[in-house]
Amino acid sequence: MSILSTALLEWYSVNKRDLPWRRTTDPYHVVVSEFMLQQTQVSRVVEKYHEFFLLFPTIQSLAAASPAEVIKAWSGLGYNRRALLLHRFVREVVEKRGGVIPSVPEELILLPGVGSYMAGSIASFAFNLPEPAVDVNVRRIFYRYVHGKDQGKPLGRKEEEQLWTLVRGNIPKLKSSDFHNALMDFGSLVCTRDSPSCASCPLRSSCSFVSLYEAQKEKVLYVMEKRQEKGMMENGKFVPNRIFRGRIVEFARQNEHRSFSFAVFGKVIKKDYTNCDREWLLLLCKTLQEDHLLTFSLENNDSIILRFSP
Ligand code: SF4
Repeated sequence: MSILSTALLEWYSVNKRDLPWRRTTDPYHVVVSEFMLQQTQVSRVVEKYHEFFLLFPTIQSLAAASPAEVIKAWSGLGYNRRALLLHRFVREVVEKRGGVIPSVPEELILLPGVGSYMAGSIASFAFNLPEPAVDVNVRRIFYRYVHGKDQGKPLGRKEEEQLWTLVRGNIPKLKSSDFHNALMDFGSLVCTRDSPSCASCPLRSSCSFVSLYEAQKEKVLYVMEKRQEKGMMENGKFVPNRIFRGRIVEFARQNEHRSFSFAVFGKVIKKDYTNCDREWLLLLCKTLQEDHLLTFSLENNDSIILRFSP
């Protein structure tokens, strides 16, 4: 086993999350959970998981249901399109495959709603096959571990294939399901998107990301840029952009049509504002303008005047 797999499995044996779909290898249950988990928080899926199987205990019962019944049972999970794709998936399996869900990615990927990740995850979680399933967590961990930085932009086809090959090469014999579950948990709890716990990470001694991250945190963490789309740090605390937007609107309420330098305006909006925040602040004003809440104009590129949209 690789250093990475050994350390991950050890970590997982102590830290694994007890989730209902991990207590089964029934392919029908695994498929339903994978459809549910796409773009939906684990806690919400946990609430709906058992309820769904009370209504549709077998793949045949789900296939026999009407689309309206499936959508009704799906309520609370969002993205109803996934419910319909799951329904088409099980109908095809029941009608064309005698109700038997295939085990290999090459066949799974031919079914409705299945992409490369889901094909790998069903093969791994339901059949424990050594097939890679690369989701955002797996991608982030491997990319950091090997390349010492965040991915930053989408990979080309060749690089993407290399990443999948790399993950495949690390799957421990007969432990594919545990390995993938370990990666999911590790990505959610340790090697997180915005603040990886490198100091206490069991992969620390072999991970390429650590030294650069610890030396130049804000430069190396690509996600800091992405995060600016959501918010900014203010006096050491993350504040979502909606709060800053609210402050700008409040500022405009009291100071409409008046000119303020960015230095003054910025300090009112963000307590520890510096010149480096200027682009971000301007971007926030632009989004308010696009949302038809405010308009703004610049004077000598150094001062700003806010007005409410007519
Ligand atoms: S050392 Fe840091 S970057 Fe590397 S795997 Fe651990 S948490 Fe992720």
